[in-house]
Amino acid sequence: MVGALERVVGESFVLTDPDLRAPYEVDWTRRFHGSARLVVRPKDTDQVGQVLRCCHEAGATVVTQGGNTGLVGGGVPDRGEVVLSLTRLDDLQEVDTLAGQVSVGAGVTLARVQEHAAASDLHFPVDLAARDSATIGGMIATNAGGIRVLRYGSTRAQVLGVEAVTVDGRVLTRMDGLVKDNAGYDLAGLLTGSEGTIAVITRARLRLVPRLQHRVVALLALDSIEVAQNTLRRVRTAMPSLEAAEVFFADGLDLVLEQTSATAPFAAPHPVYLLLECAAREDPTEELAAALEEVEDLLDVAVGTDAESRARLWELREAHTAAISAAGVPIKLDVSLPPARIGAFLARLDDVVAAIEPAARSIVFGHLGDGNLHVNLLGADPADYNLEAGVLGLTTQLGGSISAEHGIGRAKVAWLHLQRDPTDMAVMSAIKGAFDPDGRLNPGVLFPRR
Ligand SMILES: Cc1cc2nc3c(=O)[nH]c(=O)nc-3n(C[C@H](O)[C@H](O)[C@H](O)COP(=O)(O)OP(=O)(O)OC[C@H]3O[C@@H](n4cnc5c(N)ncnc54)[C@H](O)[C@@H]3O)c2cc1C
Repeated sequence: MVGALERVVGESFVLTDPDLRAPYEVDWTRRFHGSARLVVRPKDTDQVGQVLRCCHEAGATVVTQGGNTGLVGGGVPDRGEVVLSLTRLDDLQEVDTLAGQVSVGAGVTLARVQEHAAASDLHFPVDLAARDSATIGGMIATNAGGIRVLRYGSTRAQVLGVEAVTVDGRVLTRMDGLVKDNAGYDLAGLLTGSEGTIAVITRARLRLVPRLQHRVVALLALDSIEVAQNTLRRVRTAMPSLEAAEVFFADGLDLVLEQTSATAPFAAPHPVYLLLECAAREDPTEELAAALEEVEDLLDVAVGTDAESRARLWELREAHTAAISAAGVPIKLDVSLPPARIGAFLARLDDVVAAIEPAARSIVFGHLGDGNLHVNLLGADPADYNLEAGVLGLTTQLGGSISAEHGIGRAKVAWLHLQRDPTDMAVMSAIKGAFDPDGRLNPGVLFPRR
């Protein structure tokens, strides 16, 4: 198979040497790793089709990889699969300013799409801290959320079309970008969030929105999660320009200050921090200040109006993922809850964790505006799945989701039954079978390995 693949993509784009394969074989958290038979790096859709045909004929299993920033072990090999890396599919088409859309290759990073749209005074509204590495293909495959979902929706809401290659190398094209198109099943919608289990996404047609130049960020110090939620309720109602509402806590901020060069925002620590960002055609600072005047129990506030001061405040939130990973190999759980249950979840979390592993500690942060909390467990054996069972069990008891935005990957396959009933699982399995009857694409992701 190596020779056949080399003839398709060129010798230097088939990596068999263990040192060259190594970065593709471990995930961002270092929790998930395995060995690849080889890594293949096609440059366009035609090559992806030929590569998949070769793998199909050889009966090889394939793991698709974009920027390898996924947090649930879905993009790294497990047991000798071929890694299909798509970072060379990095073509950016001219922005269609009439439609407010752009077509891009699956391997283009989020940051490049954002810059490209900005050059036409438009904006790609999904944003997340891994923007310099995460690819559009990976974001569609995971239906990535991020920090602006409360205003613009997740990646799904921005996908107007996709091109994808099936396991046997056929190309499926839905790239016309029609805003209204009810001709049959929404296959682009089905591929969004499919985690590389049914086809390989090679291009996408994306929705862009107007670029809002005037921004303000406020970091509020508060006493409790209940006060944070009440504050968010008021600001959300008062300010249609609200784009982000992020939460973190004293222990997470301590870790960020310890592990990075960031400086403390306030003279003294506080229990809860709520970061708000508003963006509009005109400066929203005064409107935000007026909305915050109504907030009782505000312990302190720091405001960023220029790009530099806004970035300083954002760093305190965005550096959490890296600071946690620098402190150890975390068990990362990404849950969402009905807003009314967030307080109950946080009140019970530490007891649930301590009952299973007294040495573990939890660091929580997340997208409060979407009811999405990232629970990071440090000080535990990363292979201890009892902790996941405990925390995800608590989540579903409270009516939440075991995966808000990162996906199921390999990490949460064993817990999907907590949330999806047997009929639901059977329908999903039938869809997988229709696209990939032999289970060759991302084996062990979303469904148990056969
Ligand atoms: C610091 C940091 C912050 C993050 N913040 C957020 C956040 O706020 N919100 C959020 O949702 N996520 C976040 N993530 C997770 C991650 O960035 C997203 O899941 C992202 O969408 C993954 O993109 P990727 O290109 O790195 O995909 P990969 O990690 O390479 O792959 C992820 C999954 O998608 C599949 N896949 C990749 N490309 C394709 C393709 N072209 N076709 C089919 N399947 C494919 C893979 O097989 C795998 O199952 C964060 C990660 C880090 C490291």
